[in-house]
Amino acid sequence: MSERPATLELLEVGHTLHPEHVVLQNRRFAPLRFPALVGLIHHPTEGPILYDTGYSQRFLEETRPFPERLYAWVTPVTIDPERTAVAQLAARGIRARDVRWVLVSHFHADHVAGLRDFPAARFVYFRAALAAFAGFGRARGTAAGFLRGLLPPDLEARARALGPREPTVALPPECAPFGRGVDLFGDGALVAVELPGHVDGQLGLFVRHADGTRDFLVADACWTSASLRTRQLPHPITRALFSDYRVYRETLERLADLAARSPEIRVVPSHCDEVRLARVSPARAVRA
Ligand SMILES: [Zn+2]
Repeated sequence: MSERPATLELLEVGHTLHPEHVVLQNRRFAPLRFPALVGLIHHPTEGPILYDTGYSQRFLEETRPFPERLYAWVTPVTIDPERTAVAQLAARGIRARDVRWVLVSHFHADHVAGLRDFPAARFVYFRAALAAFAGFGRARGTAAGFLRGLLPPDLEARARALGPREPTVALPPECAPFGRGVDLFGDGALVAVELPGHVDGQLGLFVRHADGTRDFLVADACWTSASLRTRQLPHPITRALFSDYRVYRETLERLADLAARSPEIRVVPSHCDEVRLARVSPARAVRA
């Protein structure tokens, strides 16, 4: 296998405000900014690839009627039309049709609200992630953070859905305790691993750079970098948000082990403001 590097840029595509104690136990009750981060990967042969899409105007439209409006009440969202994923790509000279792949970490609305903006893209996700919401009606979907109207009607026809028998490759020792993953394009640049617990089949992504270092995009497997350092769990009030809290804790422990052993691997949670401040270019960051 010839190894090729990829580059990763993080975009902020909307944000919400949450009480901080929801995210970390033992913190004061104060609003915490909760960005929706999107990975813009530049791959040497596949071109621009997105890891999730963040919010979009369609999220606001979909959450106008009941029962979906309840979602918007619980998590008030700010999304500037000029800061959607498709608009931020356009500002970089990348047309929506140039995006051939969107990697979907999982199907919560804040990760997939822009999927319909990429008409030429194929979608990569673990099959279990979509199956988790099979048969959900509007009310049950809303309660679970899943808005079917955000998904392209032909999603599955355009998908490369990864099943349990997907061939895997060994990851290098520094990625332990993560031992194997799906090498998405056969060049070692992007390797997907399952991070279950928050939802089934959540897709984490190792991105390998030219200098051999790696980023690890972990979506909602942990919410803040601080929680990884301190191994602090979210407030028990949030347990209902996880499909399996015990498995969520196991995945969080594995991430904390990786972070402690291999600090050179940059773990990137999707909603961490510390990561946003460090990694999202100020000129392009959304104003708070
Ligand atoms: Zn989520």
